[in-house]
Amino acid sequence: MNWLRIDLETYDAWSALPVYYREQSPIYIEGEVRTPTAFIEIIGHGIVAEADVLLVETTTRPADRYWLEPSAAIGVYSLVDLLALDFHHPFLQVGTYDETTDYDTLKRLWDEGYRVPSKRWSRSAYEAHLTRERQFEHQVSPTTVCAYCASDLSFFYGQLANRLMEYHIDADEEVWVCPTCHKALHYN
Ligand SMILES: [Zn+2]
Ligand SMILES: [Zn+2]
Repeated sequence: MNWLRIDLETYDAWSALPVYYREQSPIYIEGEVRTPTAFIEIIGHGIVAEADVLLVETTTRPADRYWLEPSAAIGVYSLVDLLALDFHHPFLQVGTYDETTDYDTLKRLWDEGYRVPSKRWSRSAYEAHLTRERQFEHQVSPTTVCAYCASDLSFFYGQLANRLMEYHIDADEEVWVCPTCHKALHYN
């Protein structure tokens, strides 16, 4: 397993993590990882925290007021220090990564998620893309029809339509699209 997982049936992570993060107190989470930092997943929701692992212990369940059930059998627990906490990280929801996602990819998504429109971009690739497209910023489009959704902006914007069109570059195509589609294409 590449990350530590918390089961909400047994541990009240929604309450516990903000408290321990604010207090900067280490907490025990079941399991262990061998990655440079530990990502913490709330099962069914996604990764919500990054932590330093201070030690790994095989022990009976360490005391913590946020456990929701009586102590289980002996298990492996990691004592971690929360480095960052985010209950709404856009790219670490369940479904955007799986068992095969490696640490470097998770780390990149966690660190850069806010600055790129989708997980296919790294921050540098996205910035390079925008820089290339910006070279066409002052070029007036020869068409007012979006290559993607086929709407003709001149119906609504008349003469302004050619100036509203945006140039989008993809590996295999360079197209004039409407601003909405351009945004949508970057989210793909
Ligand atoms: Zn369009
Ligand atoms: Zn683009």
